[in-house]
Formats: sequence, C-alpha cells, structure tokens
Amino acid sequence: MNYPYAKYGVIHQCKDIPVAFPPDQHQHGQPGIEYVMNPLPISENPNYVGTGKLKGKVAIITGGDSGIGRAVAIAFAKEGADLVIVYLNEHRDAQDTERRIRQLGRKCLLLPVDVRSPGFASYIVDSTLKAFGKIDILINNAGVQYFQTSLLDISEEQLRNTFEVNILSFILLTKAVLPHLRPGSSIVNTASVTAYLGNDTLMDYSSTKGAIVSFTRALARNLAPQCIRVNAVAPGPVWTPLNPASIPPERVAVFGRDVPLGRAAQPYELAPTYVLLASDDGSYITGTTIHINGGQMVTD
Ligand code: NAD
Repeated sequence: MNYPYAKYGVIHQCKDIPVAFPPDQHQHGQPGIEYVMNPLPISENPNYVGTGKLKGKVAIITGGDSGIGRAVAIAFAKEGADLVIVYLNEHRDAQDTERRIRQLGRKCLLLPVDVRSPGFASYIVDSTLKAFGKIDILINNAGVQYFQTSLLDISEEQLRNTFEVNILSFILLTKAVLPHLRPGSSIVNTASVTAYLGNDTLMDYSSTKGAIVSFTRALARNLAPQCIRVNAVAPGPVWTPLNPASIPPERVAVFGRDVPLGRAAQPYELAPTYVLLASDDGSYITGTTIHINGGQMVTD
C-alpha cells in the first residue's frame, strides 16, 4: 500500500490510525509538545470501558502529560485511579490530560518538576501523600532520546543527561516511593524495543533502556517477598512528541513503517498493558517485560 503523507489507513476498529506523518514538524528541544503534532496522537480508545480494576488506587506517572503516559493516565482514570502527573514543563499538554482525568471523575495532581533536580523524588512523594495520603502504583515513564549517527558525536553532557532522565530518575523515585508501598502495589517501568534490538542512532538511549530491563528484573526479585510486583513495558514505535522532537524530519515521515504491522502504535494501544501490570489482573506477573512493538521479534 502506498500512503501519502497524512493519509490515514483504517486498520483498527477504534479510529483511523495514521501510517505516515508530515515530515515538516520537527520540534526543537525536548520534551516535545503534543498539542502541535500533526496528526494528534490518539490517547484514548473510546471503546475502552473501565471495570474498576484500579478503584481507589493512587498512581504516580512520570512523563504523564503526553504520549504513552497520558494514555496510561486516561485508562487508569477509567479504571478508578487518582493520578499524579509528573512532567517537565509542557503545561498545556498537562492541563489537557488533567481536564480529561477530571471529566472521568477522578482527581489529578499536576507536578511540573525536573527529574534531574536534587530532591525531586522526595518532592513527588511528599506532594502525593499530601494530596492523596497514599501511593499504590508507580509508573516510571519519563524519557529523552537524542539522535546521533556516531558514538563520537555523543557528548558527555548528552550521555549524562540521557542516563539521568531515563534510568537514574527511575531508581531514585522508586527508592523514595518504596517505603510507602504495600503488598499488592505495582511498579511499571517504560523500557523500549531498543533494549533488545539496539538502535544504531540511539546508542546511549538504548543503553539506558537495557538498564531499565535489568533494574526491573533485579528489583522484582528483591520485592517479591513483599508482594510488590515490578514489570516493564518495551514499546516499539509510538506516535508521541518524543519522535518529532528527536528524529530527523525524513524519518518522522516514515516513522514505524519498518515493523511487521507497518505503522507506529498510537499511545492508547499501550495503555491496557499498563492496566494489566498495575492491577490484580497481573497478580502473578513480576520481573517481566511485555513487548508492544508491532511484531518485531525479540529474544530476552
Ligand atoms: P513523551 O514526549 O510524551 O514523554 C516523555 C516525557 O518525559 C514527557 O512527558 C516529559 O515531560 C518527560 N521528561 C523528559 N525529561 C524530563 C525531565 N528532565 N524531568 C521530568 N520529566 C521529563 O514521549 P513518549 O514516547 O510517550 O515517552 C514515554 C516513554 O516511552 C519514554 O520513556 C520513552 O523512552 C518510551 N518509549 C517511547 C517510544 C516511542 O516510540 N514513542 C518507544 C519506546 C519507548
């Protein structure tokens, strides 16, 4: 099939799903902004009806303003959870997410905070406890990626920044949240298919995602006696602000076309897996990474 830019192929019963994207939408600097994207990512499956799987739970989602984090937040709200949305500075995206969560009848606390800053983790925990009095679920999801064709072009500054956001923040926030978790609590970390397949233009990023998988496995073993489960999700290409903000326009145009399903995922297609892992439906799943990557074959 030949899809010109911005023509949508109807592949899923939920909505038209774009398979090609206008290349003239490179965003300068990260995090990217969702509300300027063309087409807008699809965060919500209108056919998804919650059944109270997370009723009364409190979930922290880093990077929850947009992309995968926003879709997870909406699905969690439909399942009855109150949300703490951590993000860097994309206030309008965050407010859009907050509005939808409130429409769904759940509470939402927006926390703009740099996860590289000293004390960020205790600030998130203290704010959450003040607003909701408890923490049940932690979704470590914030991330950055910087396209570089040679290792020689990866500056020390970029390397440290990528590791600080993508893996150090996960460990530090988990450490701060842990004393407040109880049996039945769940931690889900967003990894990436690049942890398994590598990516020749995202070498530092792929390394952080491999570290997330290993952290997930180790922590899952450590916390199993406390009945706290730890899992990861490894997405393939997903249409989120991360990509127009980080990859060259010509790659944006064909983003996701090279996977067996022939298209990028929409964020809402990731959300049910996070519900599974965060809820009692996943009560016997820990230390696992679930691959949502359009059919790319990976070996653990
Ligand atoms: P996104 O741009 O919507 O989300 C990235 C989030 O990270 C933003 O909400 C941003 O606020 C947050 N963030 C970045 N730097 C931060 C900082 N210093 N302090 C606080 N927050 C910060 O994009 P997304 O694709 O939804 O990304 C979510 C996760 O999914 C990331 O971990 C990413 O690596 C992972 N992932 C994405 C894809 C994809 O194709 N989109 C594929 C595999 C994995």
